[in-house]
Amino acid sequence: MPPAQPPKPNDMTAPERLTQIQAELAAAMEACGRAPAALTLIAVSKTFSASAIQPVLAAGHLDFGENRLQEALDKWPALKEAYPQARLHLIGALQSNKAAQAVAHFDAIHSLDRPKLAAKLADAVQKYARQPTLFVQVNTGNEPQKSGILLDDLDGFVEACTRDYGLKIAGLMCLPPAHDVPAPHFALLEKRAQKSRPHSIKHGYEWRLFIGAAFGATHIRLGTAIFGPRG
Ligand SMILES: *Cc1c(COP(=O)(O)O)cnc(C)c1O
Repeated sequence: MPPAQPPKPNDMTAPERLTQIQAELAAAMEACGRAPAALTLIAVSKTFSASAIQPVLAAGHLDFGENRLQEALDKWPALKEAYPQARLHLIGALQSNKAAQAVAHFDAIHSLDRPKLAAKLADAVQKYARQPTLFVQVNTGNEPQKSGILLDDLDGFVEACTRDYGLKIAGLMCLPPAHDVPAPHFALLEKRAQKSRPHSIKHGYEWRLFIGAAFGATHIRLGTAIFGPRG
């Protein structure tokens, strides 16, 4: 199956691009023998204004990703009020001292990557009596500059999250090294996810939809393909 081409940014609206991407995603999933509903498309709305996001919400899309807490807090409370079904995913790094705000405002956090953050999240889960869906970020490429739990420490960390902090871990996330072929990183993550039980999660980024479909991803994150280029 050839990789899908991203929709042209300029001659379509964001809801139109989204419709086209969803169709390609469904085709990729079916070609891989998976049910299209098993892969959730996260529309990455970072840097885009509330007025750019609103039409995508109005078209019925539910899952959105933001990478900065403050930006999300500025934009999303009003949008969530208008569209209470919307689900907000924190896809960027999270400082421990912001864990409580993240638990209060996000429906999913994709970057749980260290014990100190797990402890702070656990406190906030108690305080707010709500637990966002949590994904452990894994540093599959052993990159020193990148956050994420190293593969050797993964099983121990997931166990500690569950046993010591009472957190429910929904899956794993990785950002493969920019200069590597990404597919093996996703394949590895899928294997480890099965070993430590949770479902795997990967993002699609520019590697097109079929990689996510082929390697068992449960979530795929696309921004510019939906909203157009960032200013
Ligand atoms: C921005 C971002 C994306 C989406 O990138 P696009 O190139 O706009 O599709 C996905 N994942 C993370 C972590 C991001 O920060």
